[in-house]
Amino acid sequence: MVRKHVTGPFVLPIRDIIHRSGEMREHSIDVPAPAKWGEGLVSVAEGEPVVVEVRLESVHEGILVSGEIDTEYTGICSRCLIDIAEGLQVEFQELFAYPGEEEADFEVQDDHVDLETLVREAVVLALPFQPVCQPDCPGLDPVTGERLADNAGSQPREPLDPRWAALQDFTTNHDDEAPRPRG
Ligand SMILES: [Zn+2]
Repeated sequence: MVRKHVTGPFVLPIRDIIHRSGEMREHSIDVPAPAKWGEGLVSVAEGEPVVVEVRLESVHEGILVSGEIDTEYTGICSRCLIDIAEGLQVEFQELFAYPGEEEADFEVQDDHVDLETLVREAVVLALPFQPVCQPDCPGLDPVTGERLADNAGSQPREPLDPRWAALQDFTTNHDDEAPRPRG
């Protein structure tokens, strides 16, 4: 298949190492995320800097691509719902096979490799499914709905049994329904 798309933020040239087993090149990529990556509580925002240190090694079957991604995700804490922003580092290694050589998820395209899909998938897989603002975030007060971490010295509480919560509502409502001064 002829591909005309040869430019892109994650496209690296391999002309000088193609079919030269043992040759190795290193690249640094520093580009804004081309789109929002991730659909969960946290994601890498479009435009967020994505830094990738890449090593390209020419091997018999193709180009072995390895390296580390460094970026930042933003979103909300899964327990207390405040905004959070955390650094994210992800290591990866994938083979970009020569076309027709063997079954592979990624292929060398003419004289380059395009790492965008690889980098995006590695980042999305590394995003926490239940992100927290701090490892021991106590979440929200089950009664008041306030963020417990805001109250210094407060202890994390067991979630209230719904039946007790109902009783507490009853008690509160009862107080609220005390006769009011008549105007
Ligand atoms: Zn939290």
